[in-house]
Amino acid sequence: MNAQDVLDRLEQVTGSNGKWMARCPAHQDKSPSLAVNEADDRVLVHCFAGCETTDVTAAIGLDLADLFYKKLAGSDLTEGKRRRYEKVLKDESFHVAVINSVERNERPLTTAERERRILGQQRIKKIEGALHEKSSDNN
Ligand SMILES: [Zn+2]
Repeated sequence: MNAQDVLDRLEQVTGSNGKWMARCPAHQDKSPSLAVNEADDRVLVHCFAGCETTDVTAAIGLDLADLFYKKLAGSDLTEGKRRRYEKVLKDESFHVAVINSVERNERPLTTAERERRILGQQRIKKIEGALHEKSSDNN
């Protein structure tokens, strides 16, 4: 899915260069109040009348995950999965940082701590690999 695919489903589209306005499909929109912008990884839609993005996408037969360019590339990395990945990434980065800080400032690490850090580093590497792989699918 890219911005053009979204715009094709909307009416009264005006704008250019990654920023458009269109009639919001989710409410009785007399003057275009739906902003459509191209972000790095997705199409951003925003209704100035206050519609939820999920209502807007549903009204044109899409779901939120369709707004991500990556889905078009045949990726199986859904938004939910990406969010889970990012959460684990954050947690593991935190664990590794804490362990690093103990080693640097307090005392030598125990075997368990060293193993925990290796595990964390492996998880981070794996997730960063998965996230990176998906973004290069676009090329
Ligand atoms: Zn609306």
